[in-house]
Amino acid sequence: MKSLSRITETFTESVIREMTRICDAAGGYNLSQGFPDFPAEEEIKKAAAAAIMQDFNQYPVTFGEPELRVAIAAKAGRYNKIKADPETEITVTCGATEAMIAALKAIINPGDEVVVFEPFYENYGPDAILSGATPRYVTLYAPDWRYKPEELAAAFNSKTKAIIINTPNNPTGKVFSRAELTEIAALCRKWDCLAITDEIYEHILYDGSEHISIASLEGMAERSITINSVSKTYSVTGWRVGWAIAAPAITSRIRKVHDFLTVGAPTPLQHAAVFALNLPDTYYQKLQSKYATSRDRLFKLLLKTGFNPFLPKGAYYIIAECDDLMSKLKAKNDFDFSRKLIAETKVATVPGTSFYADKSKGKNQVRFCFCKKKETLDLVEKGLLSL
Ligand code: GLN
Repeated sequence: MKSLSRITETFTESVIREMTRICDAAGGYNLSQGFPDFPAEEEIKKAAAAAIMQDFNQYPVTFGEPELRVAIAAKAGRYNKIKADPETEITVTCGATEAMIAALKAIINPGDEVVVFEPFYENYGPDAILSGATPRYVTLYAPDWRYKPEELAAAFNSKTKAIIINTPNNPTGKVFSRAELTEIAALCRKWDCLAITDEIYEHILYDGSEHISIASLEGMAERSITINSVSKTYSVTGWRVGWAIAAPAITSRIRKVHDFLTVGAPTPLQHAAVFALNLPDTYYQKLQSKYATSRDRLFKLLLKTGFNPFLPKGAYYIIAECDDLMSKLKAKNDFDFSRKLIAETKVATVPGTSFYADKSKGKNQVRFCFCKKKETLDLVEKGLLSL
């Protein structure tokens, strides 16, 4: 048989999704893949059921149902301070995942470079490869996950096409400050490149952190592709409804890629998403305080059980170093540790190296997610305390 694609040979399957499979097989508690195990809001589910009964069951408008694009524009204006024309600047996609790959496919030429902060959400590596870009990594340093300005500046050159930002950040919980985003924006202008910004955790913030969209900074609306989705904000990760906001010339390219990749995101769920996007501010306040409680609980538990966790400022993950426990469980590396942790405690995590391109990094780290119901965290506590 002739050899299969060289591109798909160069990356592995998602470790996050693999850990979910291992966890399920072991009947474990899934603190690996970031999805809620509690029910979505009753009204949101009713809106989805109603949309199906109203027969919104055929293909949507390829780039998004008009009502949803209007709702996205209104929310982006309200919360993100981004002015977006629903007709020409918004594309609804199958989750933020498709928005990211469609955005990259829409802008990348062979030889282009994309700047990516490391550690990163594992999709960005394969996304860059699938789109033909060469990633250039810039380290975020623990404990507060700051980058070094000189290292960031050195990552840009005439081949740089874009920088990928994820704020609040997965896996570190970093929330990029206005000063940092201003610095990044200046580099984008200097090197004439784009900011692709994944903001799906924009409502999950702690300790008074403020979410800022780089597209709202001066001169950045035309240089940004702002990606978001209903997944994390409304606890409906399986709906696969996301979007990208960008200037008309970029949007028309994204729409072409999107159309041929997936045609459209699920029609009834787009209509239900309109309902979700119009929820009052109290919804977001409730979400934040629920996650703040879970964050504090898991953080304390990890400290107590011998991990060295880093307190996140946003999103719903905790990175923790585990040197002592690795020795205790005689784990050879982070993967081995994650497997042993499931076997010993039923608690599933994501091995740290999967967030780094440089595999010498993250070997003593694992990522926990805490978007889980109280009962699950009770079981996790019991498991970890038995170590
Ligand atoms: N964002 C989630 C995580 O990091 C998972 C997303 C996915 O698996 N598609 O765990």
